[in-house]
Amino acid sequence: MTTKILVLNPNPNELDKVLEKANVQNSKNGPFEATILVGDVIPKDKDLPTTQLKQSTYFGQGYNGISDKIVESEFGLVDIQNELIYVKPPFSVIKLISGTTMLILSGPLTRESINEISKIKVNIDLLFTYKWPKAIAELETISQVSDELVDLVVQQIKPKYHFAVGTENGVFLELEPFKWSNNEFTRFISLGQEGSGGKWFYAFNLIKDEDIEELKFIENPFTMKKRKLTDDSKQAITKKPKVVSPSECFFCVGNPKTETHLIVSVGKHSYLTVAKGPLTRSNQDLSFSGHGIIIPIQHISNITEEHEDIRQEINKFQSTIYQSFVKQKPFLSLIFFEINRFNNIHHNIQFLPIHESQLKKFQNSLNLKAKINNEKFKRNQSLEFKEFDNEDDPELLKFKNLDYIKFTIYSKNGVKIYITKLFKDKSFDLQFPRRVLCHLLNLPDRLKWENCQQPKYKEMSDCEEFKKFYKDYEFT
Ligand SMILES: [Zn+2]
Repeated sequence: MTTKILVLNPNPNELDKVLEKANVQNSKNGPFEATILVGDVIPKDKDLPTTQLKQSTYFGQGYNGISDKIVESEFGLVDIQNELIYVKPPFSVIKLISGTTMLILSGPLTRESINEISKIKVNIDLLFTYKWPKAIAELETISQVSDELVDLVVQQIKPKYHFAVGTENGVFLELEPFKWSNNEFTRFISLGQEGSGGKWFYAFNLIKDEDIEELKFIENPFTMKKRKLTDDSKQAITKKPKVVSPSECFFCVGNPKTETHLIVSVGKHSYLTVAKGPLTRSNQDLSFSGHGIIIPIQHISNITEEHEDIRQEINKFQSTIYQSFVKQKPFLSLIFFEINRFNNIHHNIQFLPIHESQLKKFQNSLNLKAKINNEKFKRNQSLEFKEFDNEDDPELLKFKNLDYIKFTIYSKNGVKIYITKLFKDKSFDLQFPRRVLCHLLNLPDRLKWENCQQPKYKEMSDCEEFKKFYKDYEFT
């Protein structure tokens, strides 16, 4: 029997909203055998939710106390209302109908609880803690997320999945699984809080033992801890998660660093700007640089199924921008390029115009740069591009929830898409898309945007010209 589980890190100020979403998920992608809420779910001074749940939902105490509206019973599990179950500190072991077992820790971990946990006799499939183990926090070089006692719990019970949040706002991180000496394996997932920008929900089928062979394992951070971590070994595990907050983010509208004089158009979920340090410049064919960026308004690292409305609006920007080129500059095609990656700081899609005549060289530039990447830079992950000429190709739709690099070309000949999967635990060249386009346009000096910055008056005129150019297609 397959067990489907949903894990959420709600914002305690919007708990009902999250529970309603959980109900929707349950009807759409479920049924889930259990939903587990992680983090500070109903901290001190908060009211109980009123949403009627359609599935068994469990939560424990976080690090900010527990609402005094919860009347504690002497049992480890407290029914708050239909299907909403509170796990009293320090922990409970819960066995689901499918046989799946969960250990949910509640409140700050103590030495005494470790002692009690060591007496648990059943194998635990799913472990839920607040803090990260220190071994993983050190690997990721982030502080304030870990508690050494969590290391002891993980090493004792070796769960198949370990969920945590790290801090009050949560930090998103997903590690590939790692093995223990007896061939058991653990997969670590930390969720951001809803609204924090990091991924805050995780729906999954429990991996069956017979599927283990298909997994890709990383080195075990707990056994690795005993020797000094070199930069190389850190990089081999995973890239450091970006914990840039919206107030420090270049692409978050409303933060003082946002350069509003670059903004061309603002939609409901995304906005359009001219690029700072553009690769292409204004010339006799076009009165502005033409290098632009479409950016989700929400501080999100990547676009997945969860962000269908954002993706749709971005597609609308893409097609209307292209229509404005078809009408006014029919000899120019458009190349959109995007790195969709779980640890981006803030997702974005860039584009620039290119002469029809240069387009036939695109595949050559792409192949050449991919070959150099794959053969000369062994530490980078190998890039194997697949080509599609239909945006609704079922093979292409399979990339929806993966990390990838994608080029989408709109031209007289229709659409062409080149896409390659990215693996989470391998490093890669962030400059790759711009590198390909620099080669294609024969502009080797314009690889780094920092070296292509224009004076502010030029940025403003690029933006104004783009606005005029796009005016008739503006849909926002
Ligand atoms: Zn941002």
